[in-house]
Amino acid sequence: MKVVIVGAGYGGLRAVEKLVKRKNVEITLIDKNPYHYLQTEAYGYIAGNFDICDITVDIKSWCEGFSRDIHFIQDECIGIDTNNKTIQTKGQTILYDELIIATGAKTNFPAFIEGLKEFSHGVKVLSRAYQFKTQFEEIIYKKVKNSDHKEFNIIIGGAGLSGVEIAAEMAYISQKFINSIGIKKGNIHIYLIEAYDSILNGMDSYIVKNTLIRLDDLGVKVMTNSFIDSVSQNTVHLKTGENLEFDFMIFTGGIRAIGINDIFDVKKNRLNQFIVDSYLRVEGFEDIYAIGDCAEIRNLKGDILPPTSQIAEQCASVAAKNILRKLDNQPLIKYDGKMDGMFVALGGEYAVGTMFDTLKLKGYMAYLLKKIITKSYHYGLKLRLNNSFRTRR
Ligand SMILES: Cc1cc2nc3c(=O)[nH]c(=O)nc-3n(C[C@H](O)[C@H](O)[C@H](O)COP(=O)(O)OP(=O)(O)OC[C@H]3O[C@@H](n4cnc5c(N)ncnc54)[C@H](O)[C@@H]3O)c2cc1C
Repeated sequence: MKVVIVGAGYGGLRAVEKLVKRKNVEITLIDKNPYHYLQTEAYGYIAGNFDICDITVDIKSWCEGFSRDIHFIQDECIGIDTNNKTIQTKGQTILYDELIIATGAKTNFPAFIEGLKEFSHGVKVLSRAYQFKTQFEEIIYKKVKNSDHKEFNIIIGGAGLSGVEIAAEMAYISQKFINSIGIKKGNIHIYLIEAYDSILNGMDSYIVKNTLIRLDDLGVKVMTNSFIDSVSQNTVHLKTGENLEFDFMIFTGGIRAIGINDIFDVKKNRLNQFIVDSYLRVEGFEDIYAIGDCAEIRNLKGDILPPTSQIAEQCASVAAKNILRKLDNQPLIKYDGKMDGMFVALGGEYAVGTMFDTLKLKGYMAYLLKKIITKSYHYGLKLRLNNSFRTRR
């Protein structure tokens, strides 16, 4: 059986790991990039705590770390022919028996907010995170070089998980600079702007409350109920009529599934995500699964689950199991996932989080737990890479 997986993000890689154990399954993994991008670590990269090698993994080498062939194609998928069961990339046509789409999502820059896309950055792709990091460093460098008292404003639009983590980490790093190289306190301002009346919309109240306290301690100016009307070269114009000047701006206000979602003409939601059944198959297709951020994922109660790496990986396990169960003529299993926990990194060695609905933690212990979770993921990828380098020697 030929299984094709499009997208080597959190969902795609987990699907490979689950399918690889079955010898009679031929696996092809396709990604437009040569690297797997650990988006969950982007906040630390932007703030200068991590290097590029801490947030990327070479996919080809990772595939070579398995004891059997995983065929990796670095190319962009540009079409699906469901009648002939083929995937078209820019360079070739690939046959599939079962297909897993795991192409993620991008930052959604709503077109009705004039100037937003033009003048702000997203972090869902590595090139954008890199530009943002470079600009942040440039600002700090200019401050060190000139030691002037010019004020710098950084605006983060969207106070979801990624916006909050980035704001906190940048505020923490800025404070370090204030303490070490004499940048005048109060010279770097970080604004976190949110359209809703609360940050971290939908998250546990313990997390929200303690995140607000930490952001306040770090000097982040949180502005809720603040809807961005438009953005010009260096100014955000709010619906309230207030204007905020910025030196640079990042937007993390939501996601939109693009790419394959645009070319595959099936039912989608308002975020352009595929609608899947409880087995995670794209509605109307028994041999096409969609997992992770590219799909609207619901539990069996019908609640929509948040687009996180945790959910993408859970979906990958269920989709892979279902492909193998079909091969074995066994009934498919339904996906009924949930978030086992959520930890929010809040600058330096500080985090807030909850686990298994009962454990609530903040401060260093929460930071340690978050680190263990993210490090063990990275460690698993690294082990596979080491395997690959050993066998190549
Ligand atoms: C700053 C930040 C912090 C976050 N923190 C957390 C956190 O703490 N915990 C958590 O659980 N989640 C977190 N998330 C969310 C998490 O990163 C995403 O939910 C996760 O990446 C989704 O995984 P995925 O496999 O669906 O897609 P992705 O990881 O986005 O992977 C999609 C892959 O598909 C490839 N691709 C796309 N289109 C094509 C195409 N047409 N052809 C070929 N390849 C294609 C891309 O190159 C990419 O490699 C965070 C996200 C951000 C940005």
